Amino acid sequence: MARRKKIYEGKAKTLYEGPEPGTIVQYFKDDATAFNAEKHDVIEGKGVLNNILSEFFMQGLGQIGVPTHFLKRLNMREQLVRSCEIIPLEVIVRNHAAGSICKRLGLEEGTQLPRPIVEYCYKDDALGDPLVTEEHIAAFGWASQQDMDDILSLALRVNDFMSGVMLAVGIKLVDFKIEIGRIYDGDFQRLVVADEISPDSCRLWDLKTGQKLDKDVFRRDLGSLTDAYTEVARRLGVMPNNPPAPGKPTLVN
Ligand code: 5GP
Repeated sequence: MARRKKIYEGKAKTLYEGPEPGTIVQYFKDDATAFNAEKHDVIEGKGVLNNILSEFFMQGLGQIGVPTHFLKRLNMREQLVRSCEIIPLEVIVRNHAAGSICKRLGLEEGTQLPRPIVEYCYKDDALGDPLVTEEHIAAFGWASQQDMDDILSLALRVNDFMSGVMLAVGIKLVDFKIEIGRIYDGDFQRLVVADEISPDSCRLWDLKTGQKLDKDVFRRDLGSLTDAYTEVARRLGVMPNNPPAPGKPTLVN
């Protein structure tokens, strides 16, 4: 028995080398962080819920022809994904004002935006993921103009899909963050939605009551994060039947 190779450990996930070349195992941890990891806690069961919710969203995107890195869920905490080169941008889509845009532009939380607004942040924890423009992205070579056209189109398709799915279960999709990966196929590259889509990376509000069902519950100490994520999973009909006790990653040959 050999311990599998850890490729990267992030705040909420650990990546291990997958069983086939070009694959990666994404392990969802129970760690919750906010404010650039200044606030940290371990929330039992969060990883299981995010694994299942991300599978649900990524599979749904695949079904409508939006390419993602997702291959299959392996168990309660792990999924197999295609290995890709992550573009160093957080792509944020906003339908209603919340979070940083409120501070930046003096908007009242909840204000409906005139249209979905797409923003880009440079992925760098030490810098606090600063907002950047397409000028920075082009000048520093993080993505080409063609990539940017494709990223915008992917982001808006994800927004349409996610907004519809959430609306159907009485939840407003306020905003979300995605990451985009490059997959090389010989001389060609294509862009896919990568990382995860879960209540850790979205703002989700109950349509009727406005109750927050996302990571703001943790950021702002609004109650139980597991209860909020469980409610999202329950409404979407993807509640894990027997959520296991949180455990260590399994060992494989
Ligand atoms: P804001 O810019 O208002 O802080 O965040 C906008 C949206 O992107 C929110 O849904 C937030 O959860 C998500 N987001 C922004 N930065 C990060 C990040 O570093 N990690 C995760 N998981 N989500 C993020």
